[in-house]
Amino acid sequence: MSTLEEFKSYVRKMNDFRHAAGLLSWDMETKMPKKGADAHISALTTLSTESFRMSVSDEMKGYLDILSKPEERARLDEISCKMVTKIKEDYDESKNIPEDLYARYVEVTSHSQHTWAAAKHANDFETMRPYFEEIISLSKSMAHSINPDKNAYDVLLGQYEKGIDAEKITDLFDELKAGVIPLVEAIKEKPLFDESLFKGDFSKSGQEALGYYLLDVIGYSREAGRLDESEHPFTVGGAPYDVRVTTNYDLSDLRSSAFSVLHEGGHGIYEQHINPELIGTTLNTGTSTGIHESQSRFYENIIGRNYYFWKHHYDKIGEIFPQYRNIPLDVFHKGVNVVQPSLIRTEADELTYNLHIIIRFEVEKALFEGTLAVKDLPTAWHDKMQEYLGVVPTNHKEGVLQDIHWPGGMFGYFPSYALGNIYGGQFLAQIEKEVGHLDHLLAKGELDQITKWLHTNVHRHGMMKDPVQMIQDACHSSLDAKPILKYYTDKYTKLYKLK
Ligand code: ZN
Repeated sequence: MSTLEEFKSYVRKMNDFRHAAGLLSWDMETKMPKKGADAHISALTTLSTESFRMSVSDEMKGYLDILSKPEERARLDEISCKMVTKIKEDYDESKNIPEDLYARYVEVTSHSQHTWAAAKHANDFETMRPYFEEIISLSKSMAHSINPDKNAYDVLLGQYEKGIDAEKITDLFDELKAGVIPLVEAIKEKPLFDESLFKGDFSKSGQEALGYYLLDVIGYSREAGRLDESEHPFTVGGAPYDVRVTTNYDLSDLRSSAFSVLHEGGHGIYEQHINPELIGTTLNTGTSTGIHESQSRFYENIIGRNYYFWKHHYDKIGEIFPQYRNIPLDVFHKGVNVVQPSLIRTEADELTYNLHIIIRFEVEKALFEGTLAVKDLPTAWHDKMQEYLGVVPTNHKEGVLQDIHWPGGMFGYFPSYALGNIYGGQFLAQIEKEVGHLDHLLAKGELDQITKWLHTNVHRHGMMKDPVQMIQDACHSSLDAKPILKYYTDKYTKLYKLK
């Protein structure tokens, strides 16, 4: 066997461990009997430790040393070359973090995450404060080990969104903020929409049938996936042939599950359409959290909250739940586009969601720059909520303690969500240039034309292209917040008759 063949079979084995670990975690969240937890955790730990050990082993170093030599690289095909680059990046990163530092980080974040649920429930920020302080300090040290020449927050951002730093995000978000806030303000002047008519009894089985229907409509393959129930919706992939999505059912309002299915379905069809040649290479997954969110948000919001999309599918809801036959389509359309400033990010609408993310980004950045101390976090949060959304939490549960990301050590993750909206706007603008206007395509029932464009320009590449490159190649432009702002302005001006 050549070195390349040996390297590939070594990586495939690592991938197999990860594949099995992914399915075990899926099982823990969906089907596992209560008493199965200990055995699952034990198996998961073994598999994760083993695949991590393989990724930093001397054997791995040996392969990478040989295959990274310029004369060897020159002989590699495109996929193998990218494989070597990506795996070497991971190797260098993991190798540079001192073992005791990493062990401390894992220990602190698991305690912190565990403590968080109770602290949130008890509205107790003081218990979480020392955790946040230590996690930030450990994250700074780890970032410094990874790249001593870059500032720590940029290193963390780069782990989720390669090639994009805080300065770039600040520019994009300032523009987004400047466009979104006046729209939200203008909508606030309009009468409140009565959502009570959407409340009722909606069986789990009916909602599941609707979920599968919607997944079929957007082109999610049931032969390469399935829909299950979990506490928090997620997508887990052994892409492209086993990509599972989950949802959570609100038995009094079907909108929650319907839109979370469209969201996870967007993640799902991304993974299901990754080039099968990438199987076993570690490149068979979405290229970044931001690009992933661009796909889920595209189907949830840009497609799923469009009037013309539902023109073809609204009757299905009435077929399953006859009480919906009394709700006209245009009322339903308004009911899934209610814009109203609120406290909880995960429940926010398409428009104000961006502001929730921008607040988190600005606060994180200040924490890492040292211009904000953890003890002042609740005040900073309060002030920004007031300034951008005009609503303020009266407790930490609905304020700084609402998300699991910071207790879990995921500083630098939040921007991905709003970057996903920005990327989605750019994809939409390009689709409208190349394929046709969104409303016209959906009115003609040609969602598949849109999806086909996304398969070609986004999905199939897996990790072969980094986000900035992907946007450049697909949209012939650099990152730009204008397209999503144009979409928001056109849509909400019309819907709320703002002019
Ligand atoms: Zn998502």
